[in-house]
Amino acid sequence: MNEKNKYYLLKITSPFGERESPITGEKEFHPGADFRPMNLQTHAGIGGMINKSQFGEKEGYYIQISKRIKEVLFYSNSFHNAKLLKFAGAKVNKNDVVAVSGSTGNSKGIHIHYEIFTYQNDNPFVKELKTKVKHYFNGKRTYFEPIEFMKYLEKEGHD
Ligand SMILES: [Zn+2]
Repeated sequence: MNEKNKYYLLKITSPFGERESPITGEKEFHPGADFRPMNLQTHAGIGGMINKSQFGEKEGYYIQISKRIKEVLFYSNSFHNAKLLKFAGAKVNKNDVVAVSGSTGNSKGIHIHYEIFTYQNDNPFVKELKTKVKHYFNGKRTYFEPIEFMKYLEKEGHD
């Protein structure tokens, strides 16, 4: 097993895509993937800088990491944690433990909602990614299917 790829083994409880909201029952686009965490640890899916480490009504306790790749600033969010272990301004490496997972915010059970997005929707690298990775544009952000995104980055040699 490749230690770097541990997150591939996580059980996805709700994939990226159209779904019925588990909270409202309404149709929605789920812009991330939900995982059942191992050992209640939330790991950094991408290395970078912690941009936000805070509580949100819907997000619960969440960690946002930003990372620049080929002049594009990408953000990853991990929602619904019980406790945050890293704080804004900290640098983290991929797979570092950043939080204790939980069920805070809009959540019906312990899970990690993980999403990756950018605001630089028309950048050439983002356009290239869109041909290779499932994505969703909400009028402001382009969200990428997070597992495909990470696999693509590894294939291309980005950490
Ligand atoms: Zn989710």
